[in-house]
Amino acid sequence: MTKRLACFLLAAHALPALVNAQVTALRVGHLVDPETGTASANQIILIDAGKFTAIAPNVAIPQGAEVIDLSQYYVMPGLVDAHNHLALTYKMEPENNSYYLTTVMDSTAIRAVQAVSNGITMMSSGFTVVRDLGNSANYADTALRVAIDQGWIPGPTLINSGIIIGGFGGQFYPAPERETLIYPEYLNADTPDEIVKAVRRNILYGAKVIKICVDCKPYGYTADEIKLFVSEAGKAGLKVAGHVQTHAGALKAIEAGIWSIEHSSALDDQAHKLMAEKGIWRVGTETPLSTYHAPDEGRFKRQVDGMKNAYGNHVRMAFSTDADYYIPGMTRGEVVIDFLKSWKAAAIPSPEILKIMTTNGYKVCDIYDKRGPIKVGLPADLIAVQKNPLEDIDALRDVRFVMKDGIVFKRDGIMTPEKFFHSGPVKGWRLR
Ligand SMILES: [Zn+2]
Repeated sequence: MTKRLACFLLAAHALPALVNAQVTALRVGHLVDPETGTASANQIILIDAGKFTAIAPNVAIPQGAEVIDLSQYYVMPGLVDAHNHLALTYKMEPENNSYYLTTVMDSTAIRAVQAVSNGITMMSSGFTVVRDLGNSANYADTALRVAIDQGWIPGPTLINSGIIIGGFGGQFYPAPERETLIYPEYLNADTPDEIVKAVRRNILYGAKVIKICVDCKPYGYTADEIKLFVSEAGKAGLKVAGHVQTHAGALKAIEAGIWSIEHSSALDDQAHKLMAEKGIWRVGTETPLSTYHAPDEGRFKRQVDGMKNAYGNHVRMAFSTDADYYIPGMTRGEVVIDFLKSWKAAAIPSPEILKIMTTNGYKVCDIYDKRGPIKVGLPADLIAVQKNPLEDIDALRDVRFVMKDGIVFKRDGIMTPEKFFHSGPVKGWRLR
């Protein structure tokens, strides 16, 4: 680097962030606290420079503040989908595996644009945080996160994984002469050196969590190999999420102290008890029966029984969907919120589901002390609904108001993202 460039970069770094000086005041009918399962009536929330500055019943509203009337609403923290793939949208038609077609025929660029659209609809459905776990071509997920962080487009806070790392072949089964089709959907890592390199590669290109295939192939990772992922990711402060599909794989991931297990089909009472003991997150992704391309009641009942067992064993559970497909007439956000059906089928009480969709979501994303809760000092993200979600979780199906970083995104049930495009210039020059 030249000396002049170094000076320029230092100067650019020292520039103060441009912020909207105006204070926003929200008059809140009921403020829901998912952590305690309670709602407080008649609260006032002040927001300055995108952060909560006061939350109490008797706050003086400063002169010149923009006052927003939410007195008819139940206001609460934004929702979290702990497992999605915003840069993947295929049509569920098993007879022409369009999942493969998407990954082969759609460019990273078009998938990034698609991810923007999916992110916007997630926000409209109340999801202000999404953990995005791969299948994003060549880092379309990083592009989406950067665009949102820079304020170029509205969208949820993204905890993205970059490229999924797996043993030879990842989750794909290409013809021998088409071996290279695996990339960029998967990074092959079969030796300790390759594991370290793959983790570092993802971190360099913007991953905020490391996603691995624990047991997608018969030669799945050993507990020692998973431990190597955990320690290498940990150097950069990242957690490891493991796609698990066999009981043996689950036990290895648990033994290795993985952060989260993605999908639940391989998790039984034994695995749940061990996960509860070690505090390992269960990111179950249980699809509602009505979403199946070919409804399978037996499979759905097994999923629901697994949720009940995990809940009974006090496993740390996260609302998660794996919704990476298109259902005619529905947005990605609508497909995702419909997963409430699975949680209700498992007879988990509404206050618990709400806590799982908010507090637990921030924790599994490892952002709990930085973003999510409605607390003074944290970024002003919140949503509002018309009915009390502590009494009926289906209240979340009709999100009327969404605010992100203190900027109104949806009002009276209508998206109004205009202010996002006036929210300031590029917030930093390092685009990762
Ligand atoms: Zn997935």
